Amino acid sequence: MRVRFFTLFILLYAASLFQCSTSEQQSKNLLVAASIPPLADFAEKIGGSYVRVFTIVPPGTNPHTFELTPGLMKKLSRADLLVFNGVGLEFWLDKVEDNLAGKKIVYAAKGLQILADDLERHAQGNPHVWLDPQNAIYMVKRIYGAFVDVDPAHKAYYEHNAAVLIKEIEVLDQDIMATVDSWSHKKFVCFHPAWAYFARRYGLEQAGVIEKRPGMQPSPGDIADIIKTVKNIGARVIFAEAQFPSQMAEVIAKDSGVKVIPLDPLGSQGQKSYIELMRYNVAQMSKGMK
Ligand SMILES: [Zn+2]
Repeated sequence: MRVRFFTLFILLYAASLFQCSTSEQQSKNLLVAASIPPLADFAEKIGGSYVRVFTIVPPGTNPHTFELTPGLMKKLSRADLLVFNGVGLEFWLDKVEDNLAGKKIVYAAKGLQILADDLERHAQGNPHVWLDPQNAIYMVKRIYGAFVDVDPAHKAYYEHNAAVLIKEIEVLDQDIMATVDSWSHKKFVCFHPAWAYFARRYGLEQAGVIEKRPGMQPSPGDIADIIKTVKNIGARVIFAEAQFPSQMAEVIAKDSGVKVIPLDPLGSQGQKSYIELMRYNVAQMSKGMK
């Protein structure tokens, strides 16, 4: 009898060990899908060694005209957590909502104050919230909350990582503030209204945009307006973007005698962190605004 008890105890003990190691295994394999590179970066930094993250909109792709492929759809259906921006940026979501039923989705921008935008694809307002570092901190907190919901066992680990990241973004914010304060120019013209939240945060003005509707060429009237704006604000540069064709910006720049400087509101997967991305953009802007 005693021997049997002992065997049972050993078996139970072994089973509990096994259970521990499988749940450990599962958390290590937490698969997270993030719609754009800045959100993937936040998810990677918060999740650390317990998550694998992939970006849905491929690097160099315009998220406003992006189409979800069947391959990506399959990958999405395997994800444990989906990290989305919200504010209509994931416009392709309508088509696949049924496939994602029951999935844990966090909309990182939910609850933020959203700026109006009359763009066709931006019907819910301007989606480029992450380009204000204070908004980014808010989004980091929401993503952290979602990780804790999905994997409460590693709350302390996620909390620590999120706190470290938030501190780094605070430093970034202060650095940008100091740099922008030193600029003599406060108004700019850019390719599409990506920099509205950035401008609001640092006391700048997005005076004009070249592409008012995603994927559509500006009309001759639009171009004339932009050239006028460039002259009126005394701009020395036009900001273009990595995800958009730059020919139109080149034409306008040539006509108004200014230079084209590329910016990147998204970054490319694996190449730049959010913080590196923001520092790159501010350095680029400095060339025309100093
Ligand atoms: Zn955009």
